[in-house]
Amino acid sequence: MKSSLPFMRSCKEASALLIAREDQTLPLRESLALRLHLAICAACPRFERQLLTLRNAMKQWRNYSGDDK
Ligand SMILES: [Zn+2]
Repeated sequence: MKSSLPFMRSCKEASALLIAREDQTLPLRESLALRLHLAICAACPRFERQLLTLRNAMKQWRNYSGDDK
């Protein structure tokens, strides 16, 4: 018998979804599952914030290096 609900994601799956979301739009169902996980998990929202910080830093870096040409 399966113990997990269909929308439940483990932290490992949630972080994989967070990373995948960086370069692609998640299917609605995965997006909802991810949001649900972020609502009940303590660690993953922290990881999400790190990814956002990293992404912003990358964007700025790209802007800087793009202005050279
Ligand atoms: Zn988690």
